[in-house]
Amino acid sequence: MEKNNFKKNNVYISEEEKTLNWQDIQTSFKKNFGNEIYNSWLEKITLVKEFNDYLILGVPTRFFRDWIVSRYLDKILEQVKIFKLSLNRIEFKIIEENKQNQEYLKINELNKVTEIKDSILNYNRLNPNLNFQNFIKGKSNDIALSYSKKVCEHLSRHNPFYICGGVGLGKTHLLNAIGIELEGDNNVMFISAERFMYHFIKSIKKNDMVNFKDFFRKSSVFIIDDIQFLSGKDSLQEEFFHTFNSLMDKGSQIIISSDRHPIKLERIQERIKSRLAGGLVVDLEVPDHELKVKIIKKKIEEIQSQFKENINLNDDVINFIASESKTNIRELIGVLNRVIAFSRVHNKTLTITDCKNILKDVFNQIRVITVDKIQNVVSNFYNLALTDMLSQRRSRPLARPRQIAMYLAKKMTSRSLPEIGRRFANRDHTTVIHAVKTITRLSEQDDEMKKNINQIKNLLLEQ
Ligand code: ADP
Ligand code: MG
Repeated sequence: MEKNNFKKNNVYISEEEKTLNWQDIQTSFKKNFGNEIYNSWLEKITLVKEFNDYLILGVPTRFFRDWIVSRYLDKILEQVKIFKLSLNRIEFKIIEENKQNQEYLKINELNKVTEIKDSILNYNRLNPNLNFQNFIKGKSNDIALSYSKKVCEHLSRHNPFYICGGVGLGKTHLLNAIGIELEGDNNVMFISAERFMYHFIKSIKKNDMVNFKDFFRKSSVFIIDDIQFLSGKDSLQEEFFHTFNSLMDKGSQIIISSDRHPIKLERIQERIKSRLAGGLVVDLEVPDHELKVKIIKKKIEEIQSQFKENINLNDDVINFIASESKTNIRELIGVLNRVIAFSRVHNKTLTITDCKNILKDVFNQIRVITVDKIQNVVSNFYNLALTDMLSQRRSRPLARPRQIAMYLAKKMTSRSLPEIGRRFANRDHTTVIHAVKTITRLSEQDDEMKKNINQIKNLLLEQ
């Protein structure tokens, strides 16, 4: 009872924005994930703040967050979308249980300052866990790391300072570390390009551009994450460029991250690109084996000290995880969490074979499942020519496999419904929705269908 009140107190949403009933969502989590997962993980999630297109959810620890993100995020989003279709993203905020009340107070205090400041401050918080001390150096990030530190020592010498690299290689971590280092002595502004847009649009709607401009232009260190997000959004680029120029003019340090080199940004105006490339550009590359092993060991240490428990992963297993997880560091950490959780539950020292089993679906799902592959496997499975399966013909021997392929494309890839439709000879997304519903229903009612789908899934995972 007490717990429930406590949760309710922590739902901070201004009345006008509020449409979600968290209790209802929790009930649907319980129904859809089952008691075990619900009781161990989902029950502890609280609603911190609701926006039109995203939610901020509170979780008690980083491990908790990483675990949920690596295993349940897609499904959680799917569930909350049922309650509010406009949601397209979920963010997590770590709120230690005993600090929840304080957090609530803090947010309410912020509420008293002007609105734009309020909403930006909420996002402008640096994450104290992403600092230089726990950013591990390796060949792939050595240059980016050392220049990040130099930028902090000599402000405005490398301006703008631009960090590029693929997903999950440490861009946000470095940006955050720079922010932490400079906070205090400087007026640091840290924002993702996406949020910059959110405030931009909000200010236009409220006719409050003056405040918007002032707010960003008074920072002495302006850090903006994931600038590729601006691509194709002309009016936003224009505004960013003005902000950028006026900050440069007054000698503020600008720090930027992106998934690619400025010159390779698409649909961004040339003059912006060349100004972005005009300072220092550094790369984060894909980590080598040595760095991955170091990161795994460091994470194990962190978890051991946080949870005061002994984690037994031998060097063989650590090497295995490092060599299997090829794409990025975020994935590596997700995989590690999964292995640790398994060893906890089973209370045993893991072998490589155990790990292979635990990770089979993770690696396969993350990497290799594409719509093309699904179409090929399904058409082979039913002995059909791919062109027939994709054709407009509606006879059942063609239509069912087609629907199964669409269903699997929705379940096993991150493609959106319209994207999937396009890949099936330009069909409409409603056709895909219909296929997903039909196959979901059939696979519940019809054992043969269920068996076939499982076989196809296994074929896909084995490839
Ligand atoms: P990006 O912003 O490039 O997508 P992040 O900065 O979010 O990537 O990094 C993904 C995850 O990997 C984060 O949890 C981050 O702390 C961790 N990480 C990345 N690089 C390192 C590193 N060199 N040492 C320790 N952790 C790292
Ligand atoms: Mg990032």
